[in-house]
Amino acid sequence: MGERITGHTELIGLIAYPIRHSSSPAMQNEAFAKLGLDYAYLAFEVDNESLEDAIKGIRALKLRGSNVSMPNKTVVHKYLDELSPAAKLCGAVNTIVNDNGKLTGHITDGTGYMQSLKDNDIDVIGKKMTIVGAGGAGTAIEIQAALDGVKEMSIFNIKDKFWDNAKETVEKINNNTDCKATLYDLEDLDALKREIADSYLFANATGVGMKPLEGQTYIPDKSFLRPDLIVTDVVYSPRETALLKMAKEVGCKCMNGLGMMLFQGSAAFKLWTGQEMPIEHMKKVLDIKY
Ligand code: NAD
Repeated sequence: MGERITGHTELIGLIAYPIRHSSSPAMQNEAFAKLGLDYAYLAFEVDNESLEDAIKGIRALKLRGSNVSMPNKTVVHKYLDELSPAAKLCGAVNTIVNDNGKLTGHITDGTGYMQSLKDNDIDVIGKKMTIVGAGGAGTAIEIQAALDGVKEMSIFNIKDKFWDNAKETVEKINNNTDCKATLYDLEDLDALKREIADSYLFANATGVGMKPLEGQTYIPDKSFLRPDLIVTDVVYSPRETALLKMAKEVGCKCMNGLGMMLFQGSAAFKLWTGQEMPIEHMKKVLDIKY
């Protein structure tokens, strides 16, 4: 790394709090090094209070851009010049690109998820999916899946602080895309069973299955699943959640959240550098096996 940094090296940031645990710096710097690109990627612990100053800093120091994670994803748009169509619809930004002082916000979580499906030879376009979750990850996946051409989407959530956001997402999808979206209460298990039975793919987009909810799933038993159902989880730690374990036992094709993590990063990498991330190399380095 020391040998790579020169006076010409361009900086890309990651602004979030807390963020020291993130695997993004290792992933992005490995990709820059592999392709011999003169960039460096560093994490900065920035919360909502210092966010405006941090964005001014991106302009002042001429960073090429930044990733943005919680708690800044849903508020950073206020300080940017432009938003991509998906970022506008999601109301969230995870990637900033600085073009000579003009800052554009993008969201690559949804495209990352859709790309990870493609990479697994899973084609949900023109089909129906059922998804649980209406937070940052869920919204990004739902909006992108609808924009990409999923035909029908049943969204489930518990009646917590994300319920209103789920309602808004359903409205946005129905008003802006050809996908037909419907919202259900996750407590309605009859509806959950019926909608999954009618779907090609079932997705978990909540933290259920990772700490502090590790070992848990809201799917009551195996009768909710069937062998030709595709089951995906945004969680990648653990790599096999209770949901994926049950789905594997039923014989479903399964995918954890590692692919989404890789491809959201590769989409951001392309926005900053114009180059494709060396995906097969990164899979080896990150030990990604679906
Ligand atoms: P968030 O806080 O924005 O949303 C949380 C969601 O979980 C909401 O829909 C909430 O209603 C639901 N929820 C919370 N507790 C629940 C419970 N007990 N039962 C059912 N639903 C419950 O979080 P987020 O940013 O959307 O992240 C969700 C998960 O996705 C996390 O595990 C995160 O690590 C993961 N994630 C993965 C990637 C990736 O690249 N693979 C990217 C982003 C997030």
